[in-house]
Amino acid sequence: MTPATSQRLWIKNPQAAFTANQLDASGGIVVADGVIAEVLAAGQQPAAPCQATFDASNHVLMPGLINTHHHFYQTLTRAWGPVANAPLFPWLQNLYPVWARLTPRDLELAATVALAELLLSGCTTAADHHYLFPGGLEDAIDIEVAAVRALGMRATLTRGSMTLGTDDGGLPPQSTVQAPEMVLADSERLVRQYHQPGADAEIQIAFAPCSPFSVTKEIMTESALLAERLDVRLHTHLAETLDEEDFCRERFGLRTVDYLDSVGWLTDRTWLGHGIHFSDDEIRRLGAAGTAVAHCPTSNMRLASGTARVLELEAAGVPVGLGVDGSASNDASNMILEARQALYLQRLRYGADVPVERALGWATRGSAAVLGRPELGQLAPGMQADLALFRLDDLRFSGSHDPIAALLLCAADRADRVMVGGQWRVVDGQIPGLDISGLIAEHSAAARRLIAG
Ligand SMILES: [Zn+2]
Repeated sequence: MTPATSQRLWIKNPQAAFTANQLDASGGIVVADGVIAEVLAAGQQPAAPCQATFDASNHVLMPGLINTHHHFYQTLTRAWGPVANAPLFPWLQNLYPVWARLTPRDLELAATVALAELLLSGCTTAADHHYLFPGGLEDAIDIEVAAVRALGMRATLTRGSMTLGTDDGGLPPQSTVQAPEMVLADSERLVRQYHQPGADAEIQIAFAPCSPFSVTKEIMTESALLAERLDVRLHTHLAETLDEEDFCRERFGLRTVDYLDSVGWLTDRTWLGHGIHFSDDEIRRLGAAGTAVAHCPTSNMRLASGTARVLELEAAGVPVGLGVDGSASNDASNMILEARQALYLQRLRYGADVPVERALGWATRGSAAVLGRPELGQLAPGMQADLALFRLDDLRFSGSHDPIAALLLCAADRADRVMVGGQWRVVDGQIPGLDISGLIAEHSAAARRLIAG
């Protein structure tokens, strides 16, 4: 890390600015000590002298994008032929035996690829849901922490788990499940070792039993109690497909939200991956509880899982953010393109008057609320200086008029500059110090080995 300085940097006069709130940042922003010190309206000058200036007249300025649901390891199984056209359950059943062979080096490469891809798409904070801990991969989350730190990003890394194997009526093979005592002990260790509670936190830990069809009710209940004791967040997949709803009815005699309630998870500590198949009453209950949803439009379309009722969830008080989901069901880790997908999928449900700004809001301020990080996701004084700057001089933008609308309608896919906590992590569309071609070569070889077994 470059040492923090008290230098004030004026990111001056952007071509356009999206603040995710009512503030006008047409004059730019001032960054000092890793936070946003001032937001300047058109023509306004900084209140105090700035030692450095960045001319943003060719950039659209916005808060860094925040990804709320991913499985980094899945970058090794993108676009795999046998499941390219499958829905969730057979997709999982074919992939579990492949994933069970994951090694520490595989995960290190996979996480670095996913994070680098996210960062280049303007993402500054990423959540990952990792639930595979085969023999030899006990340190999976430690490996992810190192990958996040190497790229200078922020992350909420969730200690996932699978405790219900096929022998007991679950979906994953028995070889991929862990004993609950082991899960809980490792969860507590990770919080003590890595979790930073502060506004400038780089690493946060959360607990994430995988899904109703891969964990026992006991690990859900115990995880909720431990999360409350250690004051960390809870994450799981819920209401992703109708197969899952059938599983809950048959095994527990409950619909998904009743199941969530029965294990002590219907709280504002929880965020859910997908959250598609809810009744009106369930949406009301989620909103009353403040339980959040990570909307994953690309994955939901790819697996034909369904369409989340995002506007109704928000109207009920549910915080909604965006997730790219794992790379075996997206198969890209691109947050700005995910905002475009969310815009279009929600327009299909609700009509064409869903504004571009609303989709950008889900990807920034909404996602920050989902991860319990109110100090992220907006351009406002006191917020962390996490920024994404896009240029609109590519062929795809030629002839466009409204710069904010152009980001999504013309399919921006790569940031030119990205700042995390006041430090530039992407410069001229590149990650300084990262050998991308070497990474691709090693990661591709690992992916081929993993499939070959
Ligand atoms: Zn997922």
